[in-house]
Amino acid sequence: MANPIFSNLPMTIFEEMSGLARELGAVNLGQGFPDDPGPEGLRAKAAEAVLNGYNQYPPMAGLPELRQAVAAHYGRSQGLDLDAMTEVTITSGATEALAAAFLALIEPGDEVIVFQPLYDSYLPIIRLAGGVPKLVSLAPPAWRFTRERLEQAFTPKTRFVVLNNPMNPTGVVMPEEDLALLAELCVAHDVIAICDEVWEQVVFGGAKHRPLIGFPGMRGRTVKIGSAGKMFGLTGWKVGFLCAAPALTHSLARAHQFLTFTTAPNLQAAVAWGLENSHDWFRDMPRALERSRDRLADGLRREGFAVLPSEGTYFLNIDLPASGVDMADRAFCLHAVNEAGVAAIPVSALYEEDPVTSIVRLCLSKRDATLDAGIERLARARDLAVRRRAPDIAPA
Ligand code: PMP
Ligand code: GLN
Repeated sequence: MANPIFSNLPMTIFEEMSGLARELGAVNLGQGFPDDPGPEGLRAKAAEAVLNGYNQYPPMAGLPELRQAVAAHYGRSQGLDLDAMTEVTITSGATEALAAAFLALIEPGDEVIVFQPLYDSYLPIIRLAGGVPKLVSLAPPAWRFTRERLEQAFTPKTRFVVLNNPMNPTGVVMPEEDLALLAELCVAHDVIAICDEVWEQVVFGGAKHRPLIGFPGMRGRTVKIGSAGKMFGLTGWKVGFLCAAPALTHSLARAHQFLTFTTAPNLQAAVAWGLENSHDWFRDMPRALERSRDRLADGLRREGFAVLPSEGTYFLNIDLPASGVDMADRAFCLHAVNEAGVAAIPVSALYEEDPVTSIVRLCLSKRDATLDAGIERLARARDLAVRRRAPDIAPA
C-alpha cells in the first residue's frame, strides 16, 4: 500500500536529467546549480562551526543569530520590517518551508491558485494537505497573466495563491503592475499568498525584485520564503527562511517542528555570518551571472537558436520550433543527453495540464568552459535531429 499522491509520480525531472548526465558523462545544463564551489568565507565559517561547536540541536525555529540576520537582510535589501523572533523561522531549505506552509495552513477543500509552469514540489504537498489546485497557465514568450484570467481563477473557495517570483523556469521578474494586481485580488478575496522568492537575489540588469509582502494589504497575509542555497550559490546546503506575521508564523512553526524540527546548526551559523558580511557578494554575484547569461545567450544565438529573455534566476530558455527543431521538448532533451552529451530540462515537465512543449530550460550558472561545451553540444543535438528527422521518443 502506498499513498497514490506520491507513488504515482514520476521521478523529478531534475533528478532524471542529472542522473542521465552523471551516467553518460554529459555536460549538465539541466538541474540548477553552479559548478563553482561557492563563497569561501561561508564555507570556512561552516567548517569552523563543525569543528568548534554548533553540532547539537539548535532551537526549533532556528539560531537566534540567523533569524536576526535574515530580518536585517530583508530590512536592508527589500525595506521590510520583520521581527526576528516572532516572524522568522529557519527551515531545511525552501522545499521544507513550502511543505510547512502548505501543511500548516491549507484545510481540506481549500482552493489554491498556482501558476504553470510550476516548481515540482508544490502540487503533491498541496494535495497531501487536502488543497484543490486551481491552475493558471502562463505561456511564452512573456509568461504573464491578465486581469481577466486571474479574476476567473478566484472563487469563494479560494484561500491561497502560490507565487514564484522571480520565476523558475521562465526567468521572469514579475513587473510591479502584475504584483499590484495580484495583491489587490488577494485583499479583495481575503486570500493568503505563499511567495516562493528563492531567486530574489539573482536578478539581472535593470530588473528589481519586489516582495509581494510589501504591497498594500499584504503584510499580514503573506508567507515569504527564501533560500540561502540560492542566495549564496550553495544549493546543497538546504537552509531556508519562512517569514510571516506572528499569527501565521505560529502555525508554520508547528508544522516545521514535525517535518524536520531543526536545520544543521553549523550551516545556520555560516549563513548568519554570510548575511552580515556579504554585501559585496550580493552586488557581484548577479553581475557575474549576468555575464554568464550573456555568454550562453550569445553563443546560442550564434548557433541559430532562438533565445527567450531571462531577467533573473539561474535559467535561460530556448524555443525549439523557432530554433529549427521539429521535436517536442522532452524528446529533444532525451535525444540531446543521449546523442550529444548535454542535459537540459523540458519545460513541459513543470506543467500538470496542457503543457507548453516547445521550450527547453538551460542552467546558466556555469563556468565559461561548461557553457561553451553546452552550446556546442546543443548545436550538435539540433543538427543531428534535423539530419535524421528523428521520430519522437515516447515519453517515460
Ligand atoms: N522553489 C524554487 C522555485 C526553486 O527553484 C527551488 C530550488 N531550485 C526551491 C524552491 C527549493 O529550494 P531549496 O533547495 O532551498 O529547498
Ligand atoms: N530548483 C532546482 C532546479 O530548478 C532543482 C532542485 C531539485 O532538484 N530539487 O533546477
